[in-house]
Amino acid sequence: MYIGLDIGGTKIEICVLDEKGLVSLKKRTPTPKSYVDFLTTVTDFILSIEQEIGSSCKVGIGLPGAISPVTGLIKNANCTFLNSQNLQFDLSKLLSRPINIANDANCFALSEAVDGAGKDGSVVFGAILGTGCGGGIVFNKAVWSGPNAIAGEWGHNPLPGYSPEMDGVSRPCYCGRKNCIEQFISGTGFELTYKLITGKYLPANEIVALLNERDDNAANAYGKLIDQMARCFSSVVNLLDPDIIVLGGGLSKVESIYRDLPLATSKYVFTDFADLKFVRAQFGDSSGIRGAAWLSLEG
Ligand SMILES: [Zn+2]
Repeated sequence: MYIGLDIGGTKIEICVLDEKGLVSLKKRTPTPKSYVDFLTTVTDFILSIEQEIGSSCKVGIGLPGAISPVTGLIKNANCTFLNSQNLQFDLSKLLSRPINIANDANCFALSEAVDGAGKDGSVVFGAILGTGCGGGIVFNKAVWSGPNAIAGEWGHNPLPGYSPEMDGVSRPCYCGRKNCIEQFISGTGFELTYKLITGKYLPANEIVALLNERDDNAANAYGKLIDQMARCFSSVVNLLDPDIIVLGGGLSKVESIYRDLPLATSKYVFTDFADLKFVRAQFGDSSGIRGAAWLSLEG
């Protein structure tokens, strides 16, 4: 059996998967506020669940952050008390077994590549287009994170071909750079594009509702989104040429993307014909936690 944990800013979710990927148990608990409390909570949570199912499990953890290959310490986590901690070592010691930890975007990509929408591909690129924009690469059902633990994270690359005429005013990013991909092809970026056109803020789902009613401003914002996505994904295709690109997060629920994006992207790809497969994540919001569980398939 495989345990997956998804560490969020407010809650920790846990699920138990059997060998076939069926969920036998799913629970959640509030995220503690300190590292010491976090270790105790996670350890007790796992041990109590193992007692409940009467079996010891392999454990994988997904979190919005990464393990520094240089120091072994957590970096870039939004639960800031985890940063600079040796979480893998501490939990392995407390639970007397190896613990796998990966970035949540990598967990998403792994989940979809193992038994989700990307299961038929050898090389899968997973992109979460939600509040922000994360990416992960899976080769033959194993996450490729790279020697710097940054593979797939193209959300903070500059938007390819950015121009004020096409994309509007320059957009600063919290990372300190400007015009990062994340500032455009995320729910937040789409809302900003619409606001620049109309002067009015609307949440992404309401812009999509207007799009379905053939509203001109919504169509204009959507057209820009598709072109920006096409530029971003063409750089992925030119570099990696994945068999399947799986989309997750709020924007992945916009059905017309799967009709419009392949052609728009192929125009930017450096080949005369590009057969591109964009698919929507099969497991939706559960992908991260399933991928965390599947980390243990690798080792
Ligand atoms: Zn950035």
